[in-house]
Amino acid sequence: MPATIIDGKQISKDIQAEIKQQVADFVAAGYQPPKLVAVLVGEDPASQVYVRNKERACKRAGIDSELKRMSAESTTEQLLDLVNQLNQDPAVSGILVQLPLPPAIDAIKVLDAISPLKDVDAFHPENVGLLSQGRPRFLPCTPFGIVHILKRSGIATSGKSVCIIGRSDIVGKPMALMLAQKDSPLGPEMANATVTLCHSRTKDLAQVCATADIVIAAIGKPEFVSADMLKPGAIVIDVGINRTDDGLVGDVDFAPAAEVASHITPVPGGVGPLTVTILLENTLKAAQLNQAI
Ligand code: NAD
Repeated sequence: MPATIIDGKQISKDIQAEIKQQVADFVAAGYQPPKLVAVLVGEDPASQVYVRNKERACKRAGIDSELKRMSAESTTEQLLDLVNQLNQDPAVSGILVQLPLPPAIDAIKVLDAISPLKDVDAFHPENVGLLSQGRPRFLPCTPFGIVHILKRSGIATSGKSVCIIGRSDIVGKPMALMLAQKDSPLGPEMANATVTLCHSRTKDLAQVCATADIVIAAIGKPEFVSADMLKPGAIVIDVGINRTDDGLVGDVDFAPAAEVASHITPVPGGVGPLTVTILLENTLKAAQLNQAI
């Protein structure tokens, strides 16, 4: 039986409407609107699109946003100066440095310089540490978006076996940490999974994947996960965004996988829209935290 196709765009719209209301309540309570500052270095076309989408989403939610453009020839020190200024500016709630940075810039140094209280991407070691200890401040946007998708699709993770493919710091690793915890900001039913974190050196990946109730693919290889790697009735979350001659495709071979899975996210229109939405949620949270100091 074909799978239910999860509508990430609609879920995202619903959450954005809730955030808009929460922002309005925050402002009505007498606070300045939350403000996100995005730093864009160079002219990378994909990064420009991502930043523009983030600015538009902020506007829709009533969140102020500002884009700081730096030339591709900027130095690490120049970027650190800008981050320090933004850290000190009380009008700035959240800071986002759009990745990738030009190779000459020390990206880790720059990301580590962002105040952990303004770190809306949740990349700072302090925020990663808090997540790993089960007391998160900010949750990384894409994996937390996936938890929202599951919750709003009526799928609990507690007691389920989850196979995550890909161990990046942005998706796979924090996803594994989140689902293995005892609790989640969305409730304990959205944690407490038995997680297997697979990667390029995993032996018998197909076999591991075929035992999982939930498969989360974050690899960056077009249509890598085939239908025969899935347990019948599995829930399939496709994080991959791969540009091919046939347009955007995910990491899952969608049509055959949809014949085996019970639920599946499409690409585009699945996980992607949630990433920006959680960024808005984190920016509001940053404004609340920074006001409370
Ligand atoms: P990455 O590119 O940093 O790393 C890829 C991971 O896949 C690595 O951990 C590697 O071990 C694993 N891998 C590679 N080949 C493998 C193989 N043959 N078998 C098993 N594992 C293998 O990962 P990323 O930054 O998490 O990106 C993954 C994909 O997700 C990309 O397509 C990216 O564009 C997409 N992405 C989407 C969003 C979104 O908002 N939807 C956000 C972030 C990333």
